Amino acid sequence: MPSDLYEVLQVQRNASAAEIKKSYRRLAREFHPDTNPDDPEAEKKFKEIAFAYEILSDPERKSRYDRFGDVGDASSMGDPFGGIGDIFESFFGSGFTQSRRRTGPVQGQDLETSLQLAFDEAVFGCEKEIKIRTALACDTCEATGASPGSNRDTCSVCSGTGQVQQVRQSLLGQMMTSAACNTCGGMGWVIPDPCQICGGEGRNVVDDSFLVQVTAGVDDGTTLRLTGRGAVGPWGGPAGDLYVQIRVGGHQIFERVGYDLVRTLPVKMTQAILGVEMEIETLEGSENVVIPKGVASGHVMRIRGKGVPHLQGRGRGDLLLEVLVETPKDLTTDEERIIRDFAGSRAEDVNPPEGGIIGKFRSAFN
Ligand SMILES: [Zn+2]
Ligand SMILES: [Zn+2]
Repeated sequence: MPSDLYEVLQVQRNASAAEIKKSYRRLAREFHPDTNPDDPEAEKKFKEIAFAYEILSDPERKSRYDRFGDVGDASSMGDPFGGIGDIFESFFGSGFTQSRRRTGPVQGQDLETSLQLAFDEAVFGCEKEIKIRTALACDTCEATGASPGSNRDTCSVCSGTGQVQQVRQSLLGQMMTSAACNTCGGMGWVIPDPCQICGGEGRNVVDDSFLVQVTAGVDDGTTLRLTGRGAVGPWGGPAGDLYVQIRVGGHQIFERVGYDLVRTLPVKMTQAILGVEMEIETLEGSENVVIPKGVASGHVMRIRGKGVPHLQGRGRGDLLLEVLVETPKDLTTDEERIIRDFAGSRAEDVNPPEGGIIGKFRSAFN
């Protein structure tokens, strides 16, 4: 293994990508085998420079090197200088395989379910249990897939890299390309003695349930995304997400329009004419409202802040009361006389009193 890669490239540890590249180009020109024919020292230096740059120009491998001093596997990106691939191999020896980074852990699937809420559960938020058929890590093998007491073996075909090399001829000369190893599926290891419980997958399909906090203000059709609540991946791979479709039931009195709650407010005819203060039911207890004198059917009264809490941020919608004036149909004779007097005093045309054949005929249709 070469000495410190930053020293090799003659840059500070905090050098920028541009600085690293610039220094690499200068050094590569200086020690290139073409400009130093038959100089083994220069060739060795050149290879070190090329290797250091390969690691430090790849952000992921650079960060691994910075943190762990680990250079991982060298890449197989052909040979930009012609023939370097071979030189690499001889320089770093047989333990140094040329391959791309092995396949990382596989993430589990995203899952989907639905959750039924009552009207006020959606308005005020609630805690609900979600039941889901999912995949969880296998406890027996601790997600390794190997039966307890046994181990996973490094794949002998790809020597644990998960990749197999192929040499191709191209216009630019010989190219090394890599493909996922068929024997291990690109994982770099095989399981000679698979766990009996999970069949070697490191996870089991089970019925799971957990509690979820439903935020106040969710509406029918809202989709909650629960990060990491989906199925876990095989062999300890991270879990996918769970998407929860919210379904909200209706309410006998209230209707929801966005963040506002709407309800019909029945008002007696006399109350509509004279006005009244009355107690009405909201979703959270009762409230006194003043019906103004002369209110008409269809008039909407707004009670601020008694609607649905906003999902994002503060505040709530309003409670809207739509007035419905109820016209009495069951007048007694005395009541009818009072109303007729009233109509008369305002010189308003009304039907004559019912009675006789015509009146009876009419009332049959009322
Ligand atoms: Zn298992
Ligand atoms: Zn393999």
